[in-house]
Amino acid sequence: PLQIRGVTKAFGAQPVLRGVDLEVPSGRLAAVLGPSGCGKTTLLRVVAGFERADAGSVVLAGREVTGPGTHVAPEKRRVAVVPQEGALFPHLTVAQNVAFGLRGGRGARRTSAARVTELLELVGLRGYEERMPAQLSGGQQQRVAVARALAPQPDVVLLDEPFSALDAALRASVRADVRAALHAAGATAVLVTHDQEEALSTADVVAVMRDGVVVQAGTPKEVYRFPRDVEVARFVGEAV
Ligand code: ATP
Repeated sequence: PLQIRGVTKAFGAQPVLRGVDLEVPSGRLAAVLGPSGCGKTTLLRVVAGFERADAGSVVLAGREVTGPGTHVAPEKRRVAVVPQEGALFPHLTVAQNVAFGLRGGRGARRTSAARVTELLELVGLRGYEERMPAQLSGGQQQRVAVARALAPQPDVVLLDEPFSALDAALRASVRADVRAALHAAGATAVLVTHDQEEALSTADVVAVMRDGVVVQAGTPKEVYRFPRDVEVARFVGEAV
């Protein structure tokens, strides 16, 4: 599981995170949903260790990685990040890109080629091993990025608006495939988005964020049916 408790972060005089609480059970996908500028990316960066929190804690699989007097370096956290786009090394094949994620991963005895194929199968891209990233569609590239993220069996996968660069027609199917791959891998994941429909249709847990705090968290149904206040209702409701 991932536990975020009371995380605050300011840039200079500007408070960006003002006490974020969020729990993501093991194997679940949480969507952090909120308008531009509410602090979603900053929250992911704190979880990944790229930013230090001013206060609060982050506990990953039972280990405090951020806390009072604790800051585990990003490379020592078992965290994988999938950015909006451009995650792949353009000069490496698909298989090499995914195998890169295996470096430093949990020591499986299996050969990395077998594991790469297994990971590609998970994202529906078996047989694409020898392609170059430029020969793939944007959606396929994002699926390879997810396969690479899953390779080292991280404690949490962080996805920052991973579908926003895709055109609308592709988005729904890539979303469904990525969701299925994360679940099949048993991954705990946090997806950041400003798209209500994406959050409601993809996540197990939706956390609605506003002005640096999570104002409501629950299943998509709970948040949609029982919004905590008018602003949440308006924001979540825009989807439908
Ligand atoms: P978007 O959906 O537009 O990406 P967001 O919810 O992810 O927005 P953040 O990127 O976390 O929001 O930014 C929140 C606020 O923090 C913004 O006002 C931004 O300008 C500010 N901010 C983020 N990073 C820094 C930084 N390194 N230095 C100063 N201000 C920053």
